[in-house]
Formats: sequence, structure tokens, C-alpha cells
Amino acid sequence: MTDPRARVAKACRVLGKMELSRALRGHISARIPKTERIFIRARGPAESGVRYTAEDEVVEIDLEGRPAAGVPKGLRLPSELHIHTEILRARPEVNAVVHMHPPTVVLFTVTGTPLLPIYGAYYPYGLSIALENPPTFEMGRELSTAMAKARACLMRGHGITTVGESVEEACVTALSLNELATLNYQARLLGQARPIADAGVEGLRPAMKRLGARGASGEPGDSIATEWRYYCRLTGEDE
Ligand SMILES: [Zn+2]
Repeated sequence: MTDPRARVAKACRVLGKMELSRALRGHISARIPKTERIFIRARGPAESGVRYTAEDEVVEIDLEGRPAAGVPKGLRLPSELHIHTEILRARPEVNAVVHMHPPTVVLFTVTGTPLLPIYGAYYPYGLSIALENPPTFEMGRELSTAMAKARACLMRGHGITTVGESVEEACVTALSLNELATLNYQARLLGQARPIADAGVEGLRPAMKRLGARGASGEPGDSIATEWRYYCRLTGEDE
């Protein structure tokens, strides 16, 4: 795969184009393999927003938040940098962190509405996220404690944080969480949203496992890579 800096920049553009964060706010980080350092999207007056992230807007820092070689003029480290460094320090198995503010998911957090497992074969990976019942983070707590071993976390009145073995996996999980919220929202507009039957869930366990299979450290598994390629083409990143 291309280098981690380019992958972080591309991931920001794809999620920005998929409307997972409005305008400027949102960032993604990835561990640099075999180091205690990470790449993360910078913010500041020189930027144009998540969907326009350029490679030179992705900076290298250590896990204490210290930049390796300064931060380009007009940029600064995100004020929410701690979301990334806290999780990456606490969880060695995690190589990437996505933090976005998808409006539909935020609506569920502010109303305390549960995200129900309302579909199965429609998209088993999304079902697996619903079944995990992602925890909701409240201000004033430690995010890594609230998140524990989960791969996705809701943040009340704020947004989401997802993690992965690779930056692509963390992004696919964020996109899937957003889709889960969108369908839950639309179902509630039509009527009562009902979870699928337990028997249906059991039959989909093999598919959920296959779709979530991981690759080598820092790399997406085959199914995640395919899903990600679709989103890259959809957003004009891979022609
Ligand atoms: Zn935020």
C-alpha cells in the first residue's frame, strides 16, 4: 500500500466527501509501522476542510503529541489530538483512529435513541457493529476507558471515534456506523424500528467474521480493502 501519510490524507478526503464530518472538523491518525510515532491531519487557518486534506497537511508526531519536524505555517495540531494519542497509547493493537462528527449519528446521541440491529444480509458488517452496541462517551471521562476494547464509540452531542488495525478498517467502520444510523433514522420516520430476529443473526455470523477479517498489522483484510476501494472510486479518489 502507499505510505501512511498519503493513506491518512486520502482517508480524510473520502470521509469528508461522504459527509461524515461537516466542513473543517474531523481528523484521522495512523501509526507509522514499527515506531512510536503517528501521522495525523492538522487543522488551522491554512486548511480547506476534511474533504480537501492534502498530504502536506498531515503531520508526524509522537504519542505525547510532539511534532517531529514542526507544523507547516498556517496549521496546528487538532485541539482534540488527545483522542488519538490516548487511544494509541492505551491500545497497542490499534493502528488507526478516526474522529468525525456525522450529523445523523449525533442526533442519536443527543436523544439517547438506541441504534438497533435492524438489518442483516443487507450488510452484515454493519450488523456486527450494531450487535456490539457501541458505548457512548460523556465529557469528563477518559475516552479510552469509555471505549474499552470497542472499535466504535459514540460521543454525546459531538460525534464518533472508531479504531482499526488499519486506517482503511477504521474508516469502513465509521462509514458503516453512519449507514447504520441513517437506516435507523429513516426506519423511525416510517414507523417502529424493530431488530431482526436472533435466528437471522446466527445465520450471518460466518459472513460477519469474513467481512471483518483483518490483514497484516497496519494493512486491511481483503474484504475491508474491497469495501474501501469502492468508497475511493465513489468519491473520485481512485479512477
Ligand atoms: Zn470532535
